[in-house]
Amino acid sequence: MRVLITGAAGFLGSHLVDRFLADGWEVVGVDNFVTGARENLAHLANEARFSLMEHDVTEPFDVEGRLDGILHFASPASPVDYLELPIETLKVGGQGTHNVLEIARRHGARFLLASTSEVYGDPKFHPQPENYWGNVNPIGPRGVYDEAKRYAEALTMAYRRTYGLDVGIARIFNTYGPRVRPGDGRVVSNFIVQSLRDEALTVYGTGAQTRSFCYVTDQIDGLCRLFGASCVGPVNIGNPNEFTILELAQLVVEETGNSLPVSYLPLPPDDPIVRCPDISMARLKLGWTPKINLRMGLRKTIPYFRGLMEAGRDVRSRTLPITGNTGGLPA
Ligand code: NAD
Ligand code: UDP
Repeated sequence: MRVLITGAAGFLGSHLVDRFLADGWEVVGVDNFVTGARENLAHLANEARFSLMEHDVTEPFDVEGRLDGILHFASPASPVDYLELPIETLKVGGQGTHNVLEIARRHGARFLLASTSEVYGDPKFHPQPENYWGNVNPIGPRGVYDEAKRYAEALTMAYRRTYGLDVGIARIFNTYGPRVRPGDGRVVSNFIVQSLRDEALTVYGTGAQTRSFCYVTDQIDGLCRLFGASCVGPVNIGNPNEFTILELAQLVVEETGNSLPVSYLPLPPDDPIVRCPDISMARLKLGWTPKINLRMGLRKTIPYFRGLMEAGRDVRSRTLPITGNTGGLPA
């Protein structure tokens, strides 16, 4: 069995590559390294069942030989990244998804889309079930990511309805773990890196906004179950234990053993105030439930960043530019 994974050099993509290889698959990865890292795949240099194509998936391409499945994970995912790469983000969700769906159609391969909790925007229903249509600002700065993913979902369903393509849609909630880029800018990596560097933790807004954090092994397990099921979804894959950002900051400093200086920065426009998955469907259809709580996950993640620092890597956090909260319109 042979699978194509787009975004293979990224955080989730590289873990998926490892999981499919461990399960005995041949894996073809594709990545243009816009936010990914070669080091995430360096351990596979001598793995005969893995090959990597350096390619931008917004340009048409194909893969020689059979393909039984495709997992489409290519896309900037951190707000700091996609706000710096707005057009690229729209293109990879739009044209990139179209190109990869065409490959799935040519090969008759199952297609799994990495969608996101961001399709719910700043949600008015809490926790978010899959049948909630969301509250997204299409013209705000985050719209480039949210609308790209909403379009990708619509395109995926159109391929199913038009060509009968075997598809699945995963709505992924905040996931963290080893191989998140240190300067990726998402909250878990920022807080860990800041704490290890004895820097103030950058809390946006009051820190009362919530997120629900899923450890990477749980996420990969849920994604693989969805890939292996004859289930279209969308299915929420995330950990339903919800924390305020200040609670996360407290946990990080407890686990790094450092004290807690906090520096408050403005809340970015359209930053969702709450986010928590209703995972009833994943439990029912996939028999999946996450096992690793946030403290345990942080204990597995902090040593990764500490190891990078000890190896002399330039490990720094990256924060959003301060723009003032104009609701996404020019000030
Ligand atoms: P990441 O930035 O670590 O990985 C994305 C990968 O895609 C990178 O290696 C990047 O170089 C590659 N890529 C981007 N544009 C490309 C293009 N045009 N052509 C080829 N490769 C391209 O991010 P991640 O956290 O691993 O996210 C992976 C996927 O999962 C994304 O689609 C993201 O939207 C989705 N997702 C992730 C999370 C999360 O919490 N990690 C949450 C929701 C959704
Ligand atoms: N956040 C923060 N400090 C940071 C980075 C993020 O307070 O250095 C907040 C951000 O405002 C949001 C939450 O943490 O409310 C999660 O942000 P992240 O960028 O990780 O992902 P998001 O869920 O917004 O896509």
